[in-house]
Amino acid sequence: MTQTSRAVRIHAHGGPEQLVVDTVEVGEPGPGEVRIRHEAVGLNFIDVYQRTGLYQNPLPLTLGMEGAGVIEAVGPGVMHLKAGDRAAYAAGMPGSYSDLRVMPAMNVCQLPDAIDFETGAAMMLKGLTAQYLLRRCRPVEGLEPGDFVLFHAAAGGVGLIACQWAKALGLRLIGTAGSDEKCALAEAHGAEFTINYRTENFAERVKDITAGQGVKVVYDSVGKDTWDGSLDCLRPFGLMVSFGNASGPVPPFAPGILGPKGSIYVTRQTLFTHINSRERTQAMANDLFQVVGSGQVQIRIDQRFALTDARLAHESLEARKTTGCTVLLP
Ligand code: NDP
Repeated sequence: MTQTSRAVRIHAHGGPEQLVVDTVEVGEPGPGEVRIRHEAVGLNFIDVYQRTGLYQNPLPLTLGMEGAGVIEAVGPGVMHLKAGDRAAYAAGMPGSYSDLRVMPAMNVCQLPDAIDFETGAAMMLKGLTAQYLLRRCRPVEGLEPGDFVLFHAAAGGVGLIACQWAKALGLRLIGTAGSDEKCALAEAHGAEFTINYRTENFAERVKDITAGQGVKVVYDSVGKDTWDGSLDCLRPFGLMVSFGNASGPVPPFAPGILGPKGSIYVTRQTLFTHINSRERTQAMANDLFQVVGSGQVQIRIDQRFALTDARLAHESLEARKTTGCTVLLP
């Protein structure tokens, strides 16, 4: 049976004005797929990259990589979900800015009863990202309680989750953010030190805080504007984890610069490599559900928009006006 759904789509790359509300047809799930009806949809900075065309997908494109809702139907071969289940996901392919969608079941997990739909929609992509950054990306000399790490955009969606989770792991997290208010928010969520990187030289402050030693890991999702300074924050054999481009992509660089900085390591990570198997997706989600369920990590939803106001949500996110997570409500 074919149904219709509202879908917030782009027909051309560009600014937030490209987002339009269309009506699309949604069919039955095929092998390995589910049909989910969204109760809430998560907003992520990757939606901006897909809208502008920095990350390319065929057009027209329904945006959105994260959501939570109720499973309506499952296709052949789907064993871990059934119609009526509460579920949430971070998807490998866009399409969550909609009332309902058909999608691969691989990345869809049952949502524990104690976690409401808005929280589920806000936390999957951002929380699984914090999970792999803090738990799966290891510097060669290991990461132990008491070690310093630097996390940029610490008051954002991924950032506030990472601040809390790092504290639970015993890490000494130095967070950067774009205003004093955002710095205070990051500190209230577990950052031991914060730096307003619009008014202070963060690399110099990191050297001061760490008594000249530097940090073991830098988690950098800001990209172009922070790249050079970030490399100067690392101690010898430290790890630079580049995972985003909020200020623009990092320009090409010569590997030769890494030796004199202390034989440092650089990696570019994407969540979608980590969640490319059903087993690993579930294992990572279980880890996330545990820290959220125990209260060690609280998912802070600071902005809510109607799904049809996705354009306003994009404008806020890009203007650095948001903190924590943002959800769109169908
Ligand atoms: P955020 O809520 O963190 O929003 C992005 C933040 O980046 C802004 O609030 C702003 O905080 C900061 N920023 C710095 N410079 C700019 C700029 N020029 N324009 C806009 N924002 C800027 O977003 P998310 O939590 O959704 O994602 C955080 C980052 O992590 C993004 O870069 C995203 O692409 C990346 N990401 C990567 C994944 C991966 O696996 N590779 C997965 C998930 C997210 P401030 O004002 O404090 O500087």
